[in-house]
Amino acid sequence: MQNQLLINGELVTGEGEKQPVYNPATGEVLLEIAEASAAQVDAAVRSADRAFSEWGRTTPKARSECLLKLADVIEEHAEIFARLESQNCGKPLHCVINDEIPAVVDVFRFFAGAARTLNGLAAGEYLDGHTSMIRRDPVGVVASIAPWNYPLMMAAWKLAPALAAGNCVVIKPSEITPLTALKLGELAKDIFPAGVLNVLFGRGKTVGDPLTGHEKVRMVSLTGSIATGEHIIGHTASSIKRTHMELGGKAPVIVFDDADLDAVVEGVRTFGFYNAGQDCTAACRIYAQKGIYNALVEKLGAAVATLKTGAPDDESTELGPLSSAAHLARVCQAVDAAKALGHVKVVTGGNKVDGAGYYFQPTLLAGAKQEDAIVQREVFGPVVSMTEFDDEEQVLAWANDSQYGLASSVWTKDVGRAHRMSAQLQYGCTWVNTHFMLVSEMPHGGMKLSGYGKDMSVYGLEDYTVVRHVMIKH
Ligand code: NAD
Repeated sequence: MQNQLLINGELVTGEGEKQPVYNPATGEVLLEIAEASAAQVDAAVRSADRAFSEWGRTTPKARSECLLKLADVIEEHAEIFARLESQNCGKPLHCVINDEIPAVVDVFRFFAGAARTLNGLAAGEYLDGHTSMIRRDPVGVVASIAPWNYPLMMAAWKLAPALAAGNCVVIKPSEITPLTALKLGELAKDIFPAGVLNVLFGRGKTVGDPLTGHEKVRMVSLTGSIATGEHIIGHTASSIKRTHMELGGKAPVIVFDDADLDAVVEGVRTFGFYNAGQDCTAACRIYAQKGIYNALVEKLGAAVATLKTGAPDDESTELGPLSSAAHLARVCQAVDAAKALGHVKVVTGGNKVDGAGYYFQPTLLAGAKQEDAIVQREVFGPVVSMTEFDDEEQVLAWANDSQYGLASSVWTKDVGRAHRMSAQLQYGCTWVNTHFMLVSEMPHGGMKLSGYGKDMSVYGLEDYTVVRHVMIKH
């Protein structure tokens, strides 16, 4: 397993404290990795800053070629990446191979193309005797902080647009799941000029803070929790850094009486529990209209009970363990608190799985009320709540009564209602009669405490550029 950092084009061993990295399916330590020291964080940022003077001036074509090479290399090493991700996160191996790796490769290929398509206003004379034109230039050194739920994919979402736009990047994967990012660093070393991409390892306090606070860092991009987002915004405020925040979510799934019941059951069984529910867009907060509610509780309960929890390398496993012991404890606490309310009924699941590893049963909770924490707070586990509603007005108010604003879905056969709801839901994305579908061409990002800034799409690319005005006197 690659356990070295990439700094200034060289693989180096961390000089900070050693940290254990676990296999969540067994609870065993996979290996120990030394964090970057403060001097190594500084060296990585300074090398990115030096590299920027060249990389920021390369042609889009040249950057595009590097990204295409990286995509090819990831594809060639798909099996290695998939095994590392599966071991370190507990994800079913077949899901990583079939879903995540192709999506990661596609993101690099998409931004390789998008790098060559940036556009803006046509140049023109807006003042007599002067010509104005718009430039979109890179920001400079970007510090990217990634989470543990999709380590390689989140790294791709951050690196591809930033590098495509001509920035240099220092990325810090989660200390819980660093293995694929470190492997990516090893392979990228021979593709990008020294310093363009640096990969560090370490915790938020020891590595994250010195990195995001560094004077040479011009932009910080985070995918993580709201608490970390708040902290980074505060920490970077005094140096007025640009920030890009993809934070948590609690997606409402609004099911009207006229919805296709079987499609909803199939959709929630899949999109509420994929990656053991550790997904910021997971279909986890169902509002079902009173005419369909009971049938949905019954059918969905039966379907969720058939989800197969098991070893990550078993082809038939649908749900692996949660990422860490601490996270398992958080999920247990959230479900226990819901059960203690009295009015919430456990339709299926509700407990952790006995034995080794951080497994939690796929869980459906019915009878939840709008004000319950299980409806209001992100659980980030295989736990879906159900709440009954009367009409469109009520469910719209409830869906929007949330600190989160990332993803939502509406299930109905009424096209007019689908449009009305989509127009008024305060979420970065609304799906109609599906959930969770992402494509590289379309933006992903939140509103409210779910953050701001877009991943993927040309909007994501623009986020990593600055708009500049050049005016020439004739
Ligand atoms: P987290 O905030 O605990 O950690 C995320 C990253 O931030 C890790 O790399 C961590 O080391 C780093 N970090 C922590 N403190 C830091 C500091 N002081 N300075 C710099 N970096 C610091 O979140 P997590 O538990 O890893 O991820 C789960 C969260 O991420 C959930 O809330 C989830 O909804 C969110 N998420 C959001 C999206 C999205 O697109 N909106 C996608 C995936 C995950």
